[in-house]
Amino acid sequence: MSEPEQPTKKYRGNCHCGAFVFEVEAPEIKSLSDCNCSICTKRGYLWLVPKSAPTIVKDDGKLVHYSFAGKNMDHQFCGNCGITVLAASDMFPAKFGVNARTIQGLNVWDLEIKTFDGAAYDPQYVAPAYSGPEPNPAGFEDANTYHGSCHCGAVTTAVRIKGSPEDNTYKERILECNCSICLRAGYIWIYPSESQVAIQGRENLSTYVFGTRVFRKVFCKTCGVHIGAEPNPDLTDEEIAALPEVVRDFRAARLDLRPMNLRAFNGLDLKRVKPTQVDGWSRGQQYANP
Ligand SMILES: [Zn+2]
Ligand SMILES: [Zn+2]
Ligand SMILES: [Zn+2]
Repeated sequence: MSEPEQPTKKYRGNCHCGAFVFEVEAPEIKSLSDCNCSICTKRGYLWLVPKSAPTIVKDDGKLVHYSFAGKNMDHQFCGNCGITVLAASDMFPAKFGVNARTIQGLNVWDLEIKTFDGAAYDPQYVAPAYSGPEPNPAGFEDANTYHGSCHCGAVTTAVRIKGSPEDNTYKERILECNCSICLRAGYIWIYPSESQVAIQGRENLSTYVFGTRVFRKVFCKTCGVHIGAEPNPDLTDEEIAALPEVVRDFRAARLDLRPMNLRAFNGLDLKRVKPTQVDGWSRGQQYANP
């Protein structure tokens, strides 16, 4: 006997910039899958596996496709804003998995998160190694250098910090936010200064600005892994002068910051990282769902 059909709801989702919008039918979403494989960890996916394929509402042709190893999964992210929306694979019942972080009105922090041991399926993945000069800021003699990378290896990073984000020896802020962009990208933020950070393969980064455009997000243009953020160097003096005073002051106080996404660090056990959750969701009224 088959199980009785559950009533379904129509969910609508989109990348952050709105270049790609989809709808998907699914029973009320109460739980999501958090996979621990290499790509899901670096991109922060939370999976919804629907029984029927999503329908595309809007597609501006910005989707970038990325696959690796057995090439049995086609990961699709927006090349403009870097947000992963879908993955196509014959392994899914309707050939598609949906990154539920992109579903409108779904605060994933309120849902049950089930762990899926995808790492067991990609034992061959070796994280790309950083081979550039090590950051060596004054005052960090007793610190640790963490290497990181996007998934494909086009971008690698080194970050020098005191203590370990895996335990309470790291005394600086570790934040996770549920505003429109942070929720979609699944960032786990730390806030080093420019001198603590080195990035190789900058030419392989795409950047994304929105809102006040004061900071820009940077992600690998090939695999879509978000590396971090930096002050937007393209703001003109006129644009800076036109910013609301509070935003201008915010920017001026943070020109030295290079926020980094811990998901791009290699060899970190993210299960041991305990970020403070910031409720950007409630402050995000200015983001209009497309
Ligand atoms: Zn987009
Ligand atoms: Zn996975
Ligand atoms: Zn990459």
